[in-house]
Amino acid sequence: MKSVVIIGASHAAVEAVSTLRKKGWSGKIVLVGDETPLPYHRPPLSKAYLQDAISEEKLLLRNEQFYQDSDVTLMLGRRAESINRDAKTIKLNNMGNAGAGSEILAYDKLIIATGTRARLLSIEGADLPSVHYLRTKDDADIIKANMVSGKKMLLIGAGYIGLEIAASAVKSGCDVVVVELADRVLARVTSPEVSEFYQRFHTEQGVDIRLNTAVQKLEAAGSAYSATLDNGETVEFDSVVVGIGVLPNVELAEEAGLKCDNGIVVNAFGATGDEDIYAIGDCSKYHSVIYDRDIRLESIPNANGQARTAAAAICGEKVAYNEVPWFWSDQYDIKLQTAGLFDGYDEAVVRGDVAENKFSVFYLKAGRVLAVDAINSPMEFMIAKKLIVAKAVLQAEKIRDLSVKPKDLLAK
Ligand code: FAD
Repeated sequence: MKSVVIIGASHAAVEAVSTLRKKGWSGKIVLVGDETPLPYHRPPLSKAYLQDAISEEKLLLRNEQFYQDSDVTLMLGRRAESINRDAKTIKLNNMGNAGAGSEILAYDKLIIATGTRARLLSIEGADLPSVHYLRTKDDADIIKANMVSGKKMLLIGAGYIGLEIAASAVKSGCDVVVVELADRVLARVTSPEVSEFYQRFHTEQGVDIRLNTAVQKLEAAGSAYSATLDNGETVEFDSVVVGIGVLPNVELAEEAGLKCDNGIVVNAFGATGDEDIYAIGDCSKYHSVIYDRDIRLESIPNANGQARTAAAAICGEKVAYNEVPWFWSDQYDIKLQTAGLFDGYDEAVVRGDVAENKFSVFYLKAGRVLAVDAINSPMEFMIAKKLIVAKAVLQAEKIRDLSVKPKDLLAK
C-alpha cells in the first residue's frame, strides 16, 4: 500500500490529511509531529486561550475521532531527524518516548509541514528562567501562569504576537511594558497610519510602549528581575515574553539537498525540486503570481490553502496555488483583517473613521490596489481580496467617499 508521510502536525498537516481523504487517497497516511498533544489551533494561544476564554477541547483542530475516521497513523512526540531521498525514508527520533525506538519510515510521497520556530534573544540574561517565547500550547500555559493581576510583564518586540499578548496581559490586570527596537509598533507588517492607531489604543489601555529602544541585559533583582535598556533606563518585571520574529524550520529539507532560501522552495503545486516531496505552510516559499515575487507567509489561510493544493496534486489533481494572502489579528475588541501584501505601495488612503476604531487603509501602487488593512471593517476586507485579484486601479477620492459602498468600489 502506498504511503504519504507528513512531517509536522499542525494547521497545514491536518488540512492536508483532510484533503487527501476527500480527494480519494486510499493509501496510508502517517502524521509525525514533535509536539505531544493532538494538533491544535495556534492563533488563540496569544488571544482567547491566554484569557481563559476557550477550553482545551475547543483548541483542538480536530478531535480524536477525525484521525480514526481518516485512518491516520498518528506519531506524535516524534521528531523527524533526516530524510533519505534515495531510499525514500525518513529517520525518526523517539524523543524519549518509552517503547518507541529510533525508527525508519518509508514514504511514497512526503509532505514537509515543519512551520517555524521563535527567533531567540541573544543578550546577557536571555537564559534566565523568567524568559519565555510563545509558539506552543506549553509555552502559552507557562505565560498564562505568569499573567497574574498586579504582576509586571515585559514584552520584547511590538509585532502581532507581542501586542496580542500585551492586550491579553492587560485584561488579566498585569502591568505591561513593551520594548521595541523600531520607531513604531507593527513596523514590519503595516503602515505608519495603522501603527499609530495601535500604539494609541494600547497606550490608552495602560500599556507602556518604549520605541527606538533595545533591551541590553536581563538579570535577577531580588524576588523579581530587571531589564537594562540601551538608553540607560531599567525596567523591573516578573516575567518576560520575547516576540522578535520566527525562523522557518528548513534544516531537514536543506540537509536532504532541497533548495531553501528563507523557506523551502516549492512550485505552484507545493512540490519541491524532488517530485515526491512537497512543502507547505510557514516553512515553504513559493512564487506569487499576483505579486510576481517569491514569498513565504506566516498565516493560517496560507497554510490551509497550500495544504489543499499539495494534497490535491498528490491525488492527481493539479491546480496551481494562487490565493490572495490574508491575515488577521485580534487585540481588545479590535479586529484587524489584512488582505494582500503592502510592500512597495506609494499611496496609503484611509477610508472610515480612525477615532471610531472603524476604518480601513488601502495601499496603492500607481493606483493599483496592493493590499488593504481593515480595522473592524469586514466588508472592506471582503472586497479588498476581489480588488487585488482584479488588479483594480482606484482613485483615492472614491476610496475615501463613504457614500460609495464597499461593493461599489469594484465597479468600473
Ligand atoms: P506550525 O503551526 O508552525 O507547525 C509546525 C509543526 O511542526 C510544529 O508542531 C513543530 O513543532 C513541528 N515540527 C517542526 N520540525 C519537526 C520535525 N523535524 N519533526 C516533527 N515535527 C516537527 N496566523 C494567522 O493567520 N492569524 C493569527 O491570528 C495568528 N496568530 C498566531 C498567534 C500565535 C501565538 C502564533 C504562534 C502564531 C499565530 N499565527 C497566526 C501564525 C499561524 O499559527 C501559523 O501561520 C500556522 O501555525 C502555520 O502552520 P504550519 O502548519 O505551517 O506550521
